[in-house]
Amino acid sequence: MRVMYVDQTGQLGGGELSLLDVIKHSPFHSEIVLFDDGPFRTALEDLNVPVHLLHGGSLSKVRSETRLKAVLEAGPAFFGLQRRLAKLTAGFDVVYANSQKAFLVSAATRRKGQLLIWHLRDMLTADHFSPMMRVIAVEASNLTASIVITNSQATADSFVQCGGKLEKVVVVYNGISPEPFDAVTETMKQSMLQELGLRGKYLVGVFGRLSPWKGQHILLEAIASLPYAHAVLVGDALFGEDSYVESLRQRAQAPDLEGRVHFLGFRKDVSLLMKCMNIIAHTSTSPEPFGRVIVEAMLAGRPTIASRAGGVLEIVRGNETGLLVLPGCPLDLSAAIQKYHAHPGLARRIADAGRERAINHFSVHAMADGIEEVLRNCMAREEMPILVDSL
Ligand code: UDP
Repeated sequence: MRVMYVDQTGQLGGGELSLLDVIKHSPFHSEIVLFDDGPFRTALEDLNVPVHLLHGGSLSKVRSETRLKAVLEAGPAFFGLQRRLAKLTAGFDVVYANSQKAFLVSAATRRKGQLLIWHLRDMLTADHFSPMMRVIAVEASNLTASIVITNSQATADSFVQCGGKLEKVVVVYNGISPEPFDAVTETMKQSMLQELGLRGKYLVGVFGRLSPWKGQHILLEAIASLPYAHAVLVGDALFGEDSYVESLRQRAQAPDLEGRVHFLGFRKDVSLLMKCMNIIAHTSTSPEPFGRVIVEAMLAGRPTIASRAGGVLEIVRGNETGLLVLPGCPLDLSAAIQKYHAHPGLARRIADAGRERAINHFSVHAMADGIEEVLRNCMAREEMPILVDSL
């Protein structure tokens, strides 16, 4: 089977990191089209995956919250891209779209006999998409997608609630390898803490791109009243959220937080940094479709706190494998941090149970096997002759 993956971004977001693992473990011939250049391309080339760059032009201005005018303006760019993509995907059995824009362009290029997979990694809710973008995506998938793979039941539910066909959906959870976490030694940890000047501090880490809905500001407010706690922010703005980063930096300079907020930027050594934390918090203010960082925190064996919404509820069992808090509520987050701080035995028990759950439920092999099975089943179905019932 020849699979052409399509992704709209060259940045390394969660969807792209997950796709790297999918491709790494795929038994099929894989190539990829990107609508933008960036570190994702380098990571794919390191895996010897042929990368085709098709610049999206003004299509890059169309965002999830976009309304009609911007969509119409991007029309010529869309059709230009669609023509170039159609040439590249000729001769492939499967076109596998890893993001919404990639799916829409792929839907317009689908050939007879070719499978079109949409790996939907976003909640199709008002928090993330304008009504028009939701309608366009769902109608296009009902008409053209062979199957829609979602990263959680919550994402699947959001798709169906928007009118997506239930029979098209298969849930395949993200899988994450414990190996990079297990490779971290105490010496590596101590020298990293030394390098960062954070030895002996009580560290609450939040990992992920800096973006208003990822809620890093909630952590800052939560620790403002906890003088012993330091916030470590790992990640950067990936999709133009620079003014949010500026507001975080300004807030961090206020007297009640001064010297206790550490911005590390985008890092490739997430496993080592996670091991250095006392607690890892997930602070999204609106429902997270999956939340790789939560599984990673569990694999790192750290006690986690996560926002009680969306796919998170399929990962964390409250008070068992993590603490769940009200999204967007600094008071609740602050209380959870205090609970772990005051009860190290409880924190240890929850962290150990979290690690076990992450290993058992979110393995890379389960993800890769799940996706392979979906593709094989889809292909078999497509090749089956249509049987007409004779009365
Ligand atoms: N990440 C990273 N470096 C950073 C911050 C985050 O490699 O500095 C990774 C993180 O380890 C996780 C991914 O980015 O694997 C974020 O995925 P998640 O599902 O949490 O959020 P998304 O970006 O998909 O919304």
